[in-house]
Amino acid sequence: MAELSDSELARYARQLILPEVDLEGQARLKQSRVLIVGAGGLGTPAAQYLAGAGVGSICLVDDDRIALSNLPRQLAYTEDDVGQFKVEVLARRLRDANREIVVDAQRARFNDETALRLLEGVDIVLDATDSLQARLDIDQATFAAKLPWVMGAAVGTSGQWAAFDAQRREGCYHCLMGESDSSQNRGCAELGILGPVVGLVALQQSLLVIRYLLGAGLQIGCLQLLDAWTGETRQLALAIRDDCELCRAQSA
Ligand SMILES: [Zn+2]
Repeated sequence: MAELSDSELARYARQLILPEVDLEGQARLKQSRVLIVGAGGLGTPAAQYLAGAGVGSICLVDDDRIALSNLPRQLAYTEDDVGQFKVEVLARRLRDANREIVVDAQRARFNDETALRLLEGVDIVLDATDSLQARLDIDQATFAAKLPWVMGAAVGTSGQWAAFDAQRREGCYHCLMGESDSSQNRGCAELGILGPVVGLVALQQSLLVIRYLLGAGLQIGCLQLLDAWTGETRQLALAIRDDCELCRAQSA
């Protein structure tokens, strides 16, 4: 079990007194590595909360630059950062906020070619992309690597999130999406997005990841749907699709 320094004990004092965390849990967080795919509206708050909580190793992957239209919801960035690579600025902000942790910035895309390298040593993946195809790629690569992941998406005033365990005991993201055509994926650029909505989804994802790393298990088997405008939430039960090309075909 990792030792905690005096400064770490002081830094994490308020969460250490929670029975859900405790010294042992804090040490577990310190020993954990999380891959965050995307450094935009979901990735920035998720990374900041995971870094703040003391996740010992965080890998950020994104190949995008900061644009002025990102600033309303990607609050880690400032006007002076516009034009710079997101992962590089975000990594710097996380290190400034918490020098006890290691932050690894990868200016790349998560795809077939990079997945194996990016998933090395990772405990769980947090999806902060804004593309259906990217989520299908994460689902496939983490299933092959026997890793869990937490998806999240927000568009307009609606959000959704779900967790998938390594074995996909309650099905996978491919089961959920079925025959979806990834070209039909209309994103925030087209449909718009309100900052706090994407923030709410990112924090739910962060909490699921922290719970998992603390050994509380993953809440799998349902897609959480939020209408952030009315405050209504719904749960959609997930089911394994018998003809799933990923979890059925490859585990048969
Ligand atoms: Zn499946």
